[in-house]
Amino acid sequence: MTATHLSKIEHVQQQIQQASKRANRADDVTLVAVSKTKPISAIIAAYEAGIRHFGENRAQELAEKAQQLQYLTDLQWHFIGHLQTRQSLPVATYARYFHAVDRVKIAERLSRQLQQSQRSLDVFIQVNISGEASKSGFNVADWENTPQQGQTLVQAMLEINTLANINVIGLMTMAPWSAPKAEIRTLFQRLQTLSNWVNKTHPELQATKLSMGMSGDFELAVEKGATHVRVGSAIFGQRE
Ligand SMILES: *Cc1c(COP(=O)(O)O)cnc(C)c1O
Repeated sequence: MTATHLSKIEHVQQQIQQASKRANRADDVTLVAVSKTKPISAIIAAYEAGIRHFGENRAQELAEKAQQLQYLTDLQWHFIGHLQTRQSLPVATYARYFHAVDRVKIAERLSRQLQQSQRSLDVFIQVNISGEASKSGFNVADWENTPQQGQTLVQAMLEINTLANINVIGLMTMAPWSAPKAEIRTLFQRLQTLSNWVNKTHPELQATKLSMGMSGDFELAVEKGATHVRVGSAIFGQRE
């Protein structure tokens, strides 16, 4: 355990607390420490500092790390990246949460694998709210004016939620890498409004969680209602 790790984690936790206060909300944000590319020793250090939720974005890397850390029975893995069909098994085997469901088919495949291993998975449906061509997820870039976009999303959420061993718990998005703060704030606000609309029109879904915010913008995300922030470099330092 290095002092740097501890103080970085404490700093991020403090920033989350302060952002929650500014937004008059309860301090109930889950900090997912994104450990992709980082060594096992860094994960253990963060675990010792109290972190229990870790995020990975490559299936093979998740499998290797989860196997090595199996003895930490209360550590929970979040798969946060795009998942290719043929790489779904490690996610079904090791992840407790999957943040980036971007098509019904991948959820169907995970459901079959989860049933075989008698596990269950909480999922966020990824949406593309900025309209950036490089972003995956259901297109909701113009959902306020294009009812079809909201309908398509809701239909997918309902369909995925009926799958065995999979629970849809909310929506996830990624803001553009280097957009100005005001623009990012607007995107997070729009996602919160979309989430409220989905849950008002389909309360049976109970998909009220919001996964948004990374190292550069997690405070904005918390102010706009994020329940899960995915923070990598602010905790573990820059990636190579
Ligand atoms: C890498 C990654 C993060 C964390 O990024 P940082 O900027 O290092 O905090 C969050 N979410 C997703 C989907 C990622 O791939």
